Amino acid sequence: MAMDAYDGAVAELSKLISEKAGLKSVAAAKINQITAELEASSKSGQCDPVERMKTGFHHFKTEKYEKNPELYSALAKGQSPKFMVFACSDSRVCPSHILNFQPGEAFVVRNIANMVPPYDKTKYSGVGAAIEYAVLHLKVENIVVVGHSCCGGIKGLMSIPDDGTTNSDFIEQWVNICSTAKNKVKSEFKDLSFADQCKNCEKEAVNVSLGNLLTYPFVRDSVVKGTLALKGAYYDFVVGTFDLWNLDFKVIPSLTV
Ligand SMILES: [Zn+2]
Repeated sequence: MAMDAYDGAVAELSKLISEKAGLKSVAAAKINQITAELEASSKSGQCDPVERMKTGFHHFKTEKYEKNPELYSALAKGQSPKFMVFACSDSRVCPSHILNFQPGEAFVVRNIANMVPPYDKTKYSGVGAAIEYAVLHLKVENIVVVGHSCCGGIKGLMSIPDDGTTNSDFIEQWVNICSTAKNKVKSEFKDLSFADQCKNCEKEAVNVSLGNLLTYPFVRDSVVKGTLALKGAYYDFVVGTFDLWNLDFKVIPSLTV
């Protein structure tokens, strides 16, 4: 039974109860029956969340964990990933899947539209903490920002009207981190269709994020020292391609006199 049908049936029975007090016990029995039917149909269907997770973990444990005891006993002692990855929260773009990262290989931050906000201790402390930990403590050697095709977050950014009016509590304010990418695409590719503009923005926003990474002093220092590389990437799941590039920038170390 679908949830809508269940809610409708319960509402109807509640109405009946209020109209005819004598029917209370009959109605209660009916509600119990409907609830039992709902639970049974959920169990027989393919979307029992608890079963799905139990099965998933069982598969992982027997096929991966128990077959790689050396790897997992080493990981129990600590991690030293070479990569920090920014990827979108989109369920289709998990970096461990598309790049075959094994446990321990990549320190991952996922958020709407894989954005790196500029250094800001109050507004973006969550992302800042992750970058600080990855760079200063884990000493990752690469930070990769992975954009992707059909990104809903970028579509949302490109849809914000020019007067800046927003309708969401968080989403538009968040994606506005890459507003310069939107502005660039709107002026340089104004003849393209909206879909193609979005595609360009998906890539351009990655470059804005790479630039924002340099606003973190510890990132800048590591890049200047040559111990950290920043890379942009674009995963197109429509055609199945993965492009990788380095940000074209010059870092000038601050001079001390
Ligand atoms: Zn996305």
